Amino acid sequence: MINNNFQAVNKRITAACEDSQRARASVALLAVSKTKPLELIRAAYALGQRDFGENYLQDALPKIVGLPEANWHFIGHIQSNKTRDIATHFDYVHGVASEKIATRLNAARPDHKPPLGVFLQINLVDETAKSGVAPEQAGSLAAHVMGCEQLSLIGLMGMPPAAFSLSERRQFFDQLKTLQIALKKALPTGVLSELSMGMSEDLEVAIASGATWVRVGSALFGRRIPKEKL
Ligand SMILES: *Cc1c(COP(=O)(O)O)cnc(C)c1O
Repeated sequence: MINNNFQAVNKRITAACEDSQRARASVALLAVSKTKPLELIRAAYALGQRDFGENYLQDALPKIVGLPEANWHFIGHIQSNKTRDIATHFDYVHGVASEKIATRLNAARPDHKPPLGVFLQINLVDETAKSGVAPEQAGSLAAHVMGCEQLSLIGLMGMPPAAFSLSERRQFFDQLKTLQIALKKALPTGVLSELSMGMSEDLEVAIASGATWVRVGSALFGRRIPKEKL
């Protein structure tokens, strides 16, 4: 079952790359395994999947311990009391939205590990939402992360509101790509080269707009178990 799902999603990514004349290797698949059991993640790993996304810390930690050879990405809002565990156990975070959180992650990242890979989460729509930095502040946040030795500035991350239509999503993703191009001008070559955008419902649109990481959960693992039932 999961085998068919991975084949189907990889086919969709390949087709989307062909449609926008991009190399297949330019788009990576982040398998969002939040709420899913370790056995299912091991089955995906056996199929060749290496990158997994989690956003409930307590649910994720035993899975990371059980499969340390995978690459683990923390996705979504980061609470400041979770920064120590996130910096200790994860390889990437999508995304960081404040200098305070960046500073805490940097301080908590163990010296013997490579720098923690950071995507800045950008809030393009709702000024009142707490996740995401406003586009006007993204440049100074990027500069701050560049000054953190234990962090590596990888890219931008965005998540359009669930209510958005596909054409609204296309606009949202294009805005994120435009912001990335603008920010890169002030940064060394190779920094901020990734764009984490697109999920099960809209990965084709995101790839057409330049996504380099698509974060896919339900299309791979089936419907999510609500958090309350964990
Ligand atoms: C759950 C989640 C996803 C995956 O969503 P699907 O619609 O299940 O593919 C992607 N990104 C974030 C931040 C998520 O929380």
